[in-house]
Amino acid sequence: MDNTNSQILLLDDDPLACMLLERQLANLGYHAVSKFDSGKAALSSLDDPAGRPVLILLDLNMPEMDGIEFVRHLVERRYTGSLILISGEDERMRQAVEKLVRAHKINILGHLPKPVQPGDLAALLSAWSPAAPGRPRAAKKAYAADELRAAIANGELVNYYQPKVAVADGAVVGVETLVRWQHPADGMVFPDQFIDLAEASGLIDDLTRVVLSSALAQARRWQDAGIFLKIAVNVSMDNLATLDFADYVATQAAASGIAPQDLVLEVTESRLMKDARAPLEILTRLRLKRFRLSIDDFGTGHSSLAQLCDIPFDELKIDQSFSHRAWADQTLRTMFNASLDLAQRLKIETVAEGIEDRADWDFLRQTGCDTAQGYFIARPMPAADLPGWIEAWPARIAEEA
Ligand code: C2E
Ligand code: MG
Ligand code: MG
Repeated sequence: MDNTNSQILLLDDDPLACMLLERQLANLGYHAVSKFDSGKAALSSLDDPAGRPVLILLDLNMPEMDGIEFVRHLVERRYTGSLILISGEDERMRQAVEKLVRAHKINILGHLPKPVQPGDLAALLSAWSPAAPGRPRAAKKAYAADELRAAIANGELVNYYQPKVAVADGAVVGVETLVRWQHPADGMVFPDQFIDLAEASGLIDDLTRVVLSSALAQARRWQDAGIFLKIAVNVSMDNLATLDFADYVATQAAASGIAPQDLVLEVTESRLMKDARAPLEILTRLRLKRFRLSIDDFGTGHSSLAQLCDIPFDELKIDQSFSHRAWADQTLRTMFNASLDLAQRLKIETVAEGIEDRADWDFLRQTGCDTAQGYFIARPMPAADLPGWIEAWPARIAEEA
């Protein structure tokens, strides 16, 4: 898409920096550029609808209104364009601000150190496609507990499966079960739109039971067809408040003829538990029965050192926010390597989530991480697609190696 006529705003208190950026943009074919040396001046131009930019290149350190304050004003004005941060501050500072901008739901293309290298700017811009200015983002639909309850009862939840492969040789070692809601009117609804609701409305036990029993039945069918894979199911901390959960899992697995070693329970903690005794008891009992316990999204939320210390996990999943692009970013790489090191010292197997592209995979192969999961390997898929994918994968990975 050609964006070269799009309106771009430069804001930097240093006129020289502004001029250099303007020249770099011109060299890339962007000529509709307006320059400002103070936040105040830039904001008054934003208040004129005709002057609304679709991209802002923003300096962080400015004497009157700093870049962070400017972003707050953008939020108040419901700015719908994109943003690039430019700063002489170190990478961790720029990252922190990028996170903040993202939390404000402003589309941020990335951050660049000063002085800006033309190649870096070109790379960020090449990934940019401006939304029509002023178009509000579609809000995600919120569902009511009764709708979800009915969906569970009517069998509208379906399991998708995402492969996990060995980093060393690409061997397929397992799948993770990821639930979707096949909504009769809205189409496919993703778990970020209903798991919180299920937890808040007491439906998570019913949901997990449906997901677990169909995953076990599926694992049985695969085994009967000669496909032997570990199957992982996500378990909410709220499932671990009812003491019969361990027995329920054991009974279901036994009924499907799936060995405990082949069932992985991925545990995430999205909020703090009031009483840690029940989860601790249930997880320890499951481990005693030889089910495999995995700490999911490690390093985020409450999925942290304390949990790792208390519960005898077999597997640690390094969150995608640390593994994706770890090759490109010193801070991410440090977090990634520290998580890996921690797991290895505890003799826990490691899975890197979010291996999204070739560069992520190449990076991972240089680390000692055991297992990889992510779009580069495969997207989550319906059960019926898995045998075909397994057949095609060795050729693909040989080609990639
Ligand atoms: P999770 O357990 O960490 O699962 C991984 C999520 O990352 C999945 O999102 C998956 O589709 C996505 N993903 C996989 N590869 C990549 C990649 O390369 N890049 C990126 N950006 N994302 C990737 P999904 O299916 O939308 O699930 C989101 C979360 O919802 C899951 O995160 C899990 O916490 C929760 N969830 C899913 N199914 C269940 C369930 O049956 N029960 C419970 N309690 N939670 C579930
Ligand atoms: Mg998971
Ligand atoms: Mg995860």
